[in-house]
Amino acid sequence: MKILFVYNPVAGQLQIKNHLWSIINYFCSGDIELTVHATQENKDAYKVVKKQAGKYDKIICCGGDGTLHEVVNGMMETGSSRVLGFIPAGSVNDFATSLNLPRNMEQAARLAMEGQPKSIDIGKFNDEYFTYVAAFGVFTDIGYITTQEMKNLLGRLAYFFQGVKSVALMKTYRVKIRHGNEEFEDEYIYGMVSNTVLVGSLYKMPNQDVQLDDGLFEVTLIKAPNDLIELGSIGPYLLTGKGDNDLVKIFKTNSIEVIIDEQIPWTLDGEYGGNPKTVKIEVIEKALNLIYQE
Ligand SMILES: [Mg+2]
Repeated sequence: MKILFVYNPVAGQLQIKNHLWSIINYFCSGDIELTVHATQENKDAYKVVKKQAGKYDKIICCGGDGTLHEVVNGMMETGSSRVLGFIPAGSVNDFATSLNLPRNMEQAARLAMEGQPKSIDIGKFNDEYFTYVAAFGVFTDIGYITTQEMKNLLGRLAYFFQGVKSVALMKTYRVKIRHGNEEFEDEYIYGMVSNTVLVGSLYKMPNQDVQLDDGLFEVTLIKAPNDLIELGSIGPYLLTGKGDNDLVKIFKTNSIEVIIDEQIPWTLDGEYGGNPKTVKIEVIEKALNLIYQE
């Protein structure tokens, strides 16, 4: 079997450094032809996988959500039906939590090598792909939050709601949504299209039975609150997933169009996703064979 192992040496504060020797040693213990690539810069994982994926039976990547995002984009663009294994590095891996991947790197490597691949849906965001989340609004441009903990998207959102002292200062966006035969428009502070059971450990999709291979992603839209009481109701709702909240609308989709009246940054899998005014998101059902545990 030919395996391409792509790892981000600096992910999670150089976390792989102390495990690399044993992981590579383990990968080479069977009848394996192994190629190892340490990413050198942003987009490197994407470029290498796009160019090389066709030559290998399996791709294993190690890094954060951003590295996974690049590898998935590379695989999707080659139309590769190859198997992908993922060894999460870093203290926050939103999606890895949802995939039940071991926190221990050697155990994750073992799973990537021996586990059974399962098909998983992938999102298309205009011309780019994403694995588990595309989002805009409030916290996506809170650049000053740099701790690892707060890189967790919804952790940031909860943090944001705790920190806001005035709704008047809150940035809102005029957003038009086209979904099926429906079209609606309102003032929103946040929007997210996701395919993940958990986003970090804080947020559970309220009242949703999330499946990673059902051809559907969950849409979460949060309307602009009118006062601090309304605002204060959002955080607890997102954190507990219990009850209802008039400001928070959640539904499933396989295709949605989001039109915002200004250019604002989107995040794709926690990375910067550009600032298009019109975004068309489609779910590509069972697009990838990923090794994960349910
Ligand atoms: Mg789904």
